[in-house]
Amino acid sequence: LKKYFPINGPFGRLSGLKGQVKAINDVSFQLFKGETYGLVGESGSGKSTTGRTVMRLTEPTDGKVIYNQQNIFDLSKRELRPVRKELQMVFQDPFSSLNPRIRIGETLEEPLSIHALANKSERRERVFDMLEKVGMQVEHYYRYPHEFSGGQRQRLGLARALISNPKVIICDEPVSALDVSIQSQVINLLQQLQEEFQLTYLFITHDISVVRHISDRIGVMYLGKIVEEAPTDNLFNTPLHPYTQALFSAIPGKHRTQHRERIILKGEIPSPINPPTGCVFHTRCPFVKDICRKEIPQRKEIGQRHYVACHLYE
Ligand code: SF4
Ligand code: MG
Repeated sequence: LKKYFPINGPFGRLSGLKGQVKAINDVSFQLFKGETYGLVGESGSGKSTTGRTVMRLTEPTDGKVIYNQQNIFDLSKRELRPVRKELQMVFQDPFSSLNPRIRIGETLEEPLSIHALANKSERRERVFDMLEKVGMQVEHYYRYPHEFSGGQRQRLGLARALISNPKVIICDEPVSALDVSIQSQVINLLQQLQEEFQLTYLFITHDISVVRHISDRIGVMYLGKIVEEAPTDNLFNTPLHPYTQALFSAIPGKHRTQHRERIILKGEIPSPINPPTGCVFHTRCPFVKDICRKEIPQRKEIGQRHYVACHLYE
């Protein structure tokens, strides 16, 4: 997948910048049925844009998203509808844009009427049922968005995603705004629901301990690329890419691998408008070689299902 945003409007004019923001720059991964694939990286690495493109909330500059043997970008509006039902998204604050005067139950029912599922009383029953599944109560149906805490809002966000019986849920920083104790409750709930409804998760976060806890496999993103991908244990036991090593070494305690020193990265993440040539990480990499500035490292399988894009492994 590639997604480039043209720079125009006030930002481009004021800054005098021309060109495009390369938000996703050649990203490729598979999502297997029933798994949780974690996408981790700093803000601006392209994680959210990847999630939104997979949902076809935005059209890619190039590339495909294959779901059930179909490229979803080839589908007409009508053909897309049943697919939309199966792919749902959960955001950091699911109700930031909700009308404060509409009862939560009606909001939860909405997807059912859009997809013409069930009649009115069946719809209400379905919502009652879903409220209980996410650890809320039937009487919450009649309350308004502002009456709920952050953790409750996230439970309701999940209920809303689940109401149309999806197969895949793209979770974009679903617990990042919550206190740590509430985070673990919501993560437990996510895992419980995954089992009950046989869900597949694409889990997007900048939080390494969260992604480690929940994911079966992890893709590490940097400047619009997945620089390393591996099953969770492999990735934490043997991080191969210098960026992954730096990312993990910055966390105190249990995530730091014993044989590694803390790696301090030079400078800031470069602008995605003019990403570095060759390896996008070369401006900050402690191991940079000549070739890194010229040639884009290709993704190679090093261990079992463990992929890395770095010239050190050639
Ligand atoms: Fe560092 Fe070169 Fe590997 Fe990029 S390709 S991560 S610059 S060693
Ligand atoms: Mg984001």
